[in-house]
Amino acid sequence: MAGPPTFATPPGFLGVTRQGTDADFVVAGIPLDIGTTNRSGARDGPRAIRQASRMLVDGAHPTLWTDPATLSLSDAGDFTIALGDIQASLALIAQQAAEVGHLLALGGEHGVTLALLRALAKRHGKLALVHFDAHVDTWPDNFGQSHAHGSVFYHAINEGLVDPSRMIQVGIRSPVQREVWDWTLGKGVQVLSALDVHTAPLDSVAARIRATVGDMPAYLSFDVDVLDPAFAPGTGTPEIGGLASWQAQALLRRLGQLCFVGMDVVEVAPAYDVAEITALAAATIVWEYLALVSGRADA
Ligand code: MN
Ligand code: MN
Repeated sequence: MAGPPTFATPPGFLGVTRQGTDADFVVAGIPLDIGTTNRSGARDGPRAIRQASRMLVDGAHPTLWTDPATLSLSDAGDFTIALGDIQASLALIAQQAAEVGHLLALGGEHGVTLALLRALAKRHGKLALVHFDAHVDTWPDNFGQSHAHGSVFYHAINEGLVDPSRMIQVGIRSPVQREVWDWTLGKGVQVLSALDVHTAPLDSVAARIRATVGDMPAYLSFDVDVLDPAFAPGTGTPEIGGLASWQAQALLRRLGQLCFVGMDVVEVAPAYDVAEITALAAATIVWEYLALVSGRADA
């Protein structure tokens, strides 16, 4: 086995030392969390995910037989944000994301996804969306704040960034107002609850995701609170009854045909984590995604 042992891996994601934004795949952190509605702390997510990613550098993916650490992959560091200002931060994030080809973003809170979708939709037009989350995130506002993390897809749908008929939410289970629920379904969004995932065969859940997304350019937005707090305690708005990390991993492995053009993993708040399990789950989802899309000619 070549290279340093895992614990001595350089601090970039998967130990990559390449920086800048000219690689085929670019990882960047987005340390914004002022739009969180319960516990804050996702600003520390990027460094925790990078730290945990060193567990994934000592071999190839065991089913796809590619080693994401050896791809044309850079870690561009963390995006600049505007301290204390959500709107200005979203504008800055969109600007920086526009410079990047295939971006893998490490949150930060879920609100950052709006800026990432704004940048991507300019390039690709309306996107299909695979959204893993405990929460629908289609609230018109959060306690009076229009752009907090629970409103990200309300705006993404209203701004025409995603095609709601090609959008599927997986793992939903939080309390929600009936009108927010009805608005979401009324827009044509497919919603698979956590219980749907637990009680249906894995292959049929994956088939439903693939059928919804079709062959449109697709975005993966993975809110780590889709996982049960037993598997991801390190997050701001935990909800019981969630997916096991293996379920999310197994679903993702079944989405290889989709035309993913970018992804994020958000809401990792390391201050509430235990033994890095949340950060490791987040890092592994990014690694799985890289293995999944790296084989594609047009990745
Ligand atoms: Mn979310
Ligand atoms: Mn959530």
